[in-house]
Amino acid sequence: MKRIEHIGIAVKDLEAANKTYEAVMGVEPYKMETVESEGVTTSFFKVGESKIELLAATNPESPISKFIEKRGEGIHHLAFYVDDIEAEIERLKKEGFRLLNESPKPGADNKLVAFMHPKDANGVLVELCQEK
Ligand code: ZN
Repeated sequence: MKRIEHIGIAVKDLEAANKTYEAVMGVEPYKMETVESEGVTTSFFKVGESKIELLAATNPESPISKFIEKRGEGIHHLAFYVDDIEAEIERLKKEGFRLLNESPKPGADNKLVAFMHPKDANGVLVELCQEK
Protein backbone atom coordinates (compact mmCIF):
# COMPACT_ATOMS: atom_id res chain seq x y z
CA MET A 1 0.00 0.00 0.00
CA LYS A 2 1.25 3.46 -0.88
CA ARG A 3 -0.39 5.97 1.43
CA ILE A 4 -3.68 6.95 2.97
CA GLU A 5 -5.70 8.24 0.02
CA HIS A 6 -8.58 9.63 2.06
CA ILE A 7 -10.59 9.31 5.24
CA GLY A 8 -14.33 8.70 4.85
CA ILE A 9 -16.78 10.31 7.25
CA ALA A 10 -20.44 9.26 7.45
CA VAL A 11 -22.81 12.22 7.77
CA LYS A 12 -26.58 12.61 7.99
CA ASP A 13 -26.91 15.87 6.09
CA LEU A 14 -24.36 16.39 3.32
CA GLU A 15 -25.15 20.06 2.71
CA ALA A 16 -24.74 20.88 6.39
CA ALA A 17 -21.57 18.78 6.67
CA ASN A 18 -20.12 20.47 3.56
CA LYS A 19 -20.52 23.83 5.30
CA THR A 20 -18.91 22.47 8.47
CA TYR A 21 -15.89 21.03 6.64
CA GLU A 22 -15.56 24.13 4.47
CA ALA A 23 -15.21 26.05 7.71
CA VAL A 24 -12.80 23.49 9.19
CA MET A 25 -10.56 23.01 6.16
CA GLY A 26 -10.86 26.43 4.54
CA VAL A 27 -11.63 24.99 1.11
CA GLU A 28 -14.77 24.03 -0.77
CA PRO A 29 -15.38 20.46 -1.91
CA TYR A 30 -13.66 19.88 -5.25
CA LYS A 31 -16.18 17.27 -6.24
CA MET A 32 -19.62 15.95 -5.33
CA GLU A 33 -20.77 12.66 -6.73
CA THR A 34 -23.58 10.15 -6.25
CA VAL A 35 -22.74 6.46 -6.54
CA GLU A 36 -26.22 5.02 -6.90
CA SER A 37 -25.04 1.38 -6.74
CA GLU A 38 -23.63 2.12 -3.26
CA GLY A 39 -26.53 4.28 -2.09
CA VAL A 40 -24.25 7.21 -1.31
CA THR A 41 -23.68 10.81 -2.23
CA THR A 42 -20.14 11.93 -1.55
CA SER A 43 -18.21 15.15 -1.45
CA PHE A 44 -14.42 15.41 -1.48
CA PHE A 45 -12.18 17.99 0.17
CA LYS A 46 -8.46 18.27 -0.36
CA VAL A 47 -5.77 20.09 1.57
CA GLY A 48 -2.21 19.37 0.49
CA GLU A 49 -2.05 15.64 -0.23
CA SER A 50 -4.84 14.83 2.21
CA LYS A 51 -8.42 14.16 1.25
CA ILE A 52 -11.61 13.86 3.25
CA GLU A 53 -14.65 12.13 1.78
CA LEU A 54 -18.03 12.92 3.30
CA LEU A 55 -20.64 10.23 2.68
CA ALA A 56 -24.40 10.59 3.05
CA ALA A 57 -27.00 7.90 2.35
CA THR A 58 -29.33 8.22 -0.65
CA ASN A 59 -31.82 5.70 0.77
CA PRO A 60 -32.63 3.91 4.05
CA GLU A 61 -31.05 0.65 2.82
CA SER A 62 -27.72 2.31 2.16
CA PRO A 63 -24.73 0.99 4.14
CA ILE A 64 -24.26 4.57 5.33
CA SER A 65 -27.80 4.65 6.79
CA LYS A 66 -27.08 1.42 8.61
CA PHE A 67 -23.71 2.64 9.87
CA ILE A 68 -25.23 5.87 11.26
CA GLU A 69 -28.11 3.95 12.89
CA LYS A 70 -25.63 1.69 14.63
CA ARG A 71 -22.71 3.98 15.44
CA GLY A 72 -23.82 7.52 14.72
CA GLU A 73 -22.03 9.98 12.48
CA GLY A 74 -18.25 9.83 12.37
CA ILE A 75 -15.24 8.22 10.75
CA HIS A 76 -16.48 5.47 8.47
CA HIS A 77 -13.40 4.17 6.65
CA LEU A 78 -9.72 4.58 5.88
CA ALA A 79 -8.78 4.36 2.24
CA PHE A 80 -5.31 3.24 1.16
CA TYR A 81 -3.99 3.96 -2.28
CA VAL A 82 -2.60 0.91 -4.11
CA ASP A 83 -0.98 0.58 -7.54
CA ASP A 84 -2.50 -2.82 -8.34
CA ILE A 85 -5.77 -3.43 -6.56
CA GLU A 86 -6.25 -6.96 -7.91
CA ALA A 87 -2.81 -7.99 -6.64
CA GLU A 88 -3.50 -6.38 -3.23
CA ILE A 89 -6.81 -8.24 -2.93
CA GLU A 90 -5.02 -11.52 -3.64
CA ARG A 91 -2.20 -10.68 -1.22
CA LEU A 92 -4.64 -9.84 1.60
CA LYS A 93 -6.70 -12.98 0.97
CA LYS A 94 -3.50 -15.04 1.24
CA GLU A 95 -2.81 -13.29 4.56
CA GLY A 96 -6.20 -14.55 5.74
CA PHE A 97 -8.16 -11.30 5.54
CA ARG A 98 -11.76 -11.33 4.40
CA LEU A 99 -12.64 -8.96 1.60
CA LEU A 100 -16.15 -7.58 1.20
CA ASN A 101 -15.46 -7.43 -2.54
CA GLU A 102 -13.79 -10.32 -4.31
CA SER A 103 -13.07 -8.07 -7.26
CA PRO A 104 -12.69 -4.30 -7.55
CA LYS A 105 -15.78 -2.23 -8.27
CA PRO A 106 -16.26 1.33 -9.47
CA GLY A 107 -16.19 3.85 -6.62
CA ALA A 108 -16.40 7.61 -6.29
CA ASP A 109 -13.67 10.00 -7.49
CA ASN A 110 -12.78 7.90 -10.54
CA LYS A 111 -11.45 4.99 -8.49
CA LEU A 112 -11.66 1.24 -8.46
CA VAL A 113 -12.31 0.15 -4.88
CA ALA A 114 -12.57 -2.90 -2.64
CA PHE A 115 -13.28 -3.11 1.08
CA MET A 116 -11.86 -5.35 3.77
CA HIS A 117 -14.03 -6.81 6.52
CA PRO A 118 -13.86 -4.38 9.49
CA LYS A 119 -13.75 -7.26 11.99
CA ASP A 120 -10.39 -8.28 10.50
CA ALA A 121 -8.89 -4.82 11.03
CA ASN A 122 -9.74 -3.99 14.64
CA GLY A 123 -13.13 -2.54 13.81
CA VAL A 124 -11.90 -0.27 11.02
CA LEU A 125 -13.38 -0.51 7.55
CA VAL A 126 -10.40 -0.42 5.18
CA GLU A 127 -10.85 0.60 1.55
CA LEU A 128 -8.30 -0.15 -1.15
CA CYS A 129 -8.42 2.24 -4.05
CA GLN A 130 -6.68 2.64 -7.36
CA GLU A 131 -7.09 5.23 -10.09
CA LYS A 132 -9.32 3.87 -12.88
ZN1 ZN B 1 -13.75 6.14 0.38
